[in-house]
Amino acid sequence: MAKRQFKAESKRLLEMMINSIYSHKEIFIRELISNSSDAIDKIYYRALTDDSLTFDKDNYYIKVDTNKANRTLTIKDTGIGMTKEELESNLGIIAKSGSLSFKNENEMKDGQDIIGQFGVGFYSAFMVADVVTVITKALGSDEAYKWESKGVDGYTIKPCDKDEIGTEITLKIKENTEDESYDEYLDASRLKTTIKKYSDFIRYPIKMDVTET
Ligand code: ADP
Ligand code: MG
Repeated sequence: MAKRQFKAESKRLLEMMINSIYSHKEIFIRELISNSSDAIDKIYYRALTDDSLTFDKDNYYIKVDTNKANRTLTIKDTGIGMTKEELESNLGIIAKSGSLSFKNENEMKDGQDIIGQFGVGFYSAFMVADVVTVITKALGSDEAYKWESKGVDGYTIKPCDKDEIGTEITLKIKENTEDESYDEYLDASRLKTTIKKYSDFIRYPIKMDVTET
């Protein structure tokens, strides 16, 4: 399939994220985990009104994995997933809802880390990754799709295999530069601390294999 272009506004946001000099790049993990949590919420709320669906809490979780050798970080969820059309409309265009909008005023802390208070959304992954791959299978669908983007030059969507309903997002973490190291985003125990800091309120289990040293 030909490479698809992002909509103009999304492209600008993406450029900002790719070239970000923001010093708290770690907030991307908050954004991806909150998307996963939202996706599980969607199944939860659907199960309340749909008798054919049962929400067994044990089956719903978020799993974070790192692979230092491959420089990848994966965030997997058992949420509602996305159809091909949803991939196109949700990840090709800035979501109108929360992106770059202020969070609840109660969460604002005076004068400190104003950017960190914004919901910057999915594209924040590009602050730390140069390739982002999304593999997803929507509730009620037998087809799975793989969305992939290296940034501003667009994205591709292809059919792929995935057994479970849900979404798996893989970040190819940027190579270190003279000025900046990205290794902390591949370090499971560092990530665990970051996740505790930003995502402590998430209602679903966040699983991680951390080898204690
Ligand atoms: P927001 O969360 O504010 O809507 P984002 O940029 O974070 O904006 O995400 C854009 C959209 O992409 C979401 O609204 C959602 O529809 C979809 N999305 C992102 N991550 C996931 C996921 N893990 N599972 C299902 N849908 C997702
Ligand atoms: Mg979001």
